[in-house]
Amino acid sequence: MDKSVFLEDMDAFAYREALTSGEAIVLIPVGSLEQHGPHLPLGTDTILSTHFAAAVARRLGALVAQPIAYGYKSQQKSGGGNHLSGTTSLDGASLIGMARNLVKSFLNQGVRHVVFINGHFENYQFLYEGIDLALEELGITPGAGQSVLLLSYWDFVSQNTLAQVYPDGFPGWEIEHGGVLETSLMLHLEPARVVMERLVDSPAAVLPRFDRLPVVPERTPPTGCLSSAAGSSAAKGALLHDQVVDDLALDLAGELMGELAGVPAWMSSSTVCDVA
Ligand code: MN
Ligand code: ZN
Repeated sequence: MDKSVFLEDMDAFAYREALTSGEAIVLIPVGSLEQHGPHLPLGTDTILSTHFAAAVARRLGALVAQPIAYGYKSQQKSGGGNHLSGTTSLDGASLIGMARNLVKSFLNQGVRHVVFINGHFENYQFLYEGIDLALEELGITPGAGQSVLLLSYWDFVSQNTLAQVYPDGFPGWEIEHGGVLETSLMLHLEPARVVMERLVDSPAAVLPRFDRLPVVPERTPPTGCLSSAAGSSAAKGALLHDQVVDDLALDLAGELMGELAGVPAWMSSSTVCDVA
């Protein structure tokens, strides 16, 4: 059996050994416990970010830390809303605190680079803030050897992949919650955790350009999904997964392992925005 990339499987001595090179990279998956419609589990965002982290870690020889399995409050326009039961969230201060604590611990232990692999849209800025506060407290300045990277995996989906996954036109990341992207990835990676018979093919949510608090619950479709997952398939999931892992591994290797050859991957790749 291959050696596990997960810290939870390693003993402390093997971990310390891995740190002795001074080049260790630790990936931290971040997700949520959030309703994803009738056909996907509450842990979808955490499950997917952990899969991406593990696949990339195997390519880079990096390690994967325990995921942050709760996320910042689900918002109506990107996750259906925090009012839906099943969705169990952290407030901003808590998520900032978790990111800050993890960055400080890993960098203090001698990890060279920490990379947050985010799988829940609403988390991003709170992770950013936690990282920034930790670096400030540690006194790590530009040019120091240690660094922290933050990314959301869907930002690595290429235009070419999008065209193949959405032959009838891409509906937009902002309503992709519980839709074709997450359902296809789950069908590819965790088929036993998807119940396709429960999938409801309903029209995409129509949401205002503003956020209203408290939310108007009726604006979230009864399924909790913001777009239909009809048309999802394991084949689309495999395409999405493999392309994202390729690009992600290439970008991280170039950025963190000095394998820059010519134009960095991120300069030539197309970036497409939000979700999950
Ligand atoms: Mn989410
Ligand atoms: Zn999601």
